[in-house]
Amino acid sequence: MTTLDTAPADAVRENAPVDGEPCVLIKLGEVVLKGKNRELFERRLADNVRAAVRPIARVDVIRRHGVFIVRTKDADVATVDRLAARISDVMGIVWAHRAWRVGKDVASVERAALELMDGLTGSFAVRSRRRDKRFPMTSTELDRHVGGRIADAYGQPVRLKNPDHTLSIEVDRDEVFVFSGGLPGQGGLPVGMSGRALVLMSGGIDSPVAAYRMMRRGLRVDYLHFSGMPFTGPESIYKAYALVRELDKFQGGSRLFVVPFGKAQQQIKSSGADRLAVIAQRRLMLRTGELLARRLGGGALITGDALGQVSSQTLANITALDDAVELPILRPLVGMDKIEIIEQARRVRTLEISELPDEDCCTMLAPRRAETRAKIDDLRQIEKRLDVGELAEQLAASVQEHRPVYGDAGAA
Ligand code: ATP
Ligand code: MG
Repeated sequence: MTTLDTAPADAVRENAPVDGEPCVLIKLGEVVLKGKNRELFERRLADNVRAAVRPIARVDVIRRHGVFIVRTKDADVATVDRLAARISDVMGIVWAHRAWRVGKDVASVERAALELMDGLTGSFAVRSRRRDKRFPMTSTELDRHVGGRIADAYGQPVRLKNPDHTLSIEVDRDEVFVFSGGLPGQGGLPVGMSGRALVLMSGGIDSPVAAYRMMRRGLRVDYLHFSGMPFTGPESIYKAYALVRELDKFQGGSRLFVVPFGKAQQQIKSSGADRLAVIAQRRLMLRTGELLARRLGGGALITGDALGQVSSQTLANITALDDAVELPILRPLVGMDKIEIIEQARRVRTLEISELPDEDCCTMLAPRRAETRAKIDDLRQIEKRLDVGELAEQLAASVQEHRPVYGDAGAA
């Protein structure tokens, strides 16, 4: 616990040690949720935060109205900065601030404010909020008072519109939080709130972004990758592994399932599928995915399809793909431009990995002209000859499971 310092203001020396503790102050997303959902949201989020930071420190997560406070014993500023950075990747959070948690008196607030603005250059503003209205000063009084002390100490001007630096003061039930800046979070819902789904994960740019967007809507995801093995090298598996390891920062405990798909592709090719080979192959991937998803308790499949992006992603072909399985296929990128998708891939830091060269299993099969208006009846004919039901069972039984962990060094 902090000591609630009650020293009079005139006893405050500039840069006197702050008699509080550094902590992470978390602002929650989608607080529109009410009642029972809100309780679930908060409990899930607190669990996810604790799990994400476990390699750094054991923490207490204190739930308050609209905010969480993350505390750890004997915390130093560097550790708390690492906690804040890690927490900003946890879905369901809008901001992660490294804050000083001090006693509910003006002197303690001043000391923390001076410490945080130490070495200040440029204009600044103080913005106070009171979640506890019993504090002896109003927000405006607190702004003026603390702003005056900072201006005196560092000789910098107050500017309320577009200041170079903002100092925030939040008066809470038991303490006051003082912070400057913060890390924007991902928003969305805590992972696990919406159930579980299986991502069909190529080594490309799109599927990792699709996974990110669905995790952000509260789905816990597993990953399924089809390699061209034994007819290609293992490079695409390394890529899928590296991608899942990066994306694991958003949920933790990720599982990657890999299916050697080369022989099945050869069978499709020799079945005379011709222009329908690509769609037939995608349908087989989906069927295999459905079997695996059901085994894992997943309620949907997720793909990186975007309407019209490549020939297999026309409306008719998407219809033909949906026809192959009963589970819903979620396509979070369906209405996005490639440029937007690339921008998002850069932000979630999967773009560089996706751009590494590999031998995509799909290029093996590409006919000279792919069908853009696949006929479902024709596809069913091909699949009958192939006995796809049995083939999908075999493929789903042949999966190899990997557990890529965010922060782990080394290759697959
Ligand atoms: P991506 O960038 O995700 O590879 P893409 O634009 O290359 O997508 P396609 O190759 O047509 O598009 O694949 C569409 C979707 O099918 C992918 O987003 C992915 O969900 C799934 N998919 C394609 N290839 C594979 C694979 N080898 N393993 C698992 N899923 C795949
Ligand atoms: Mg691809």
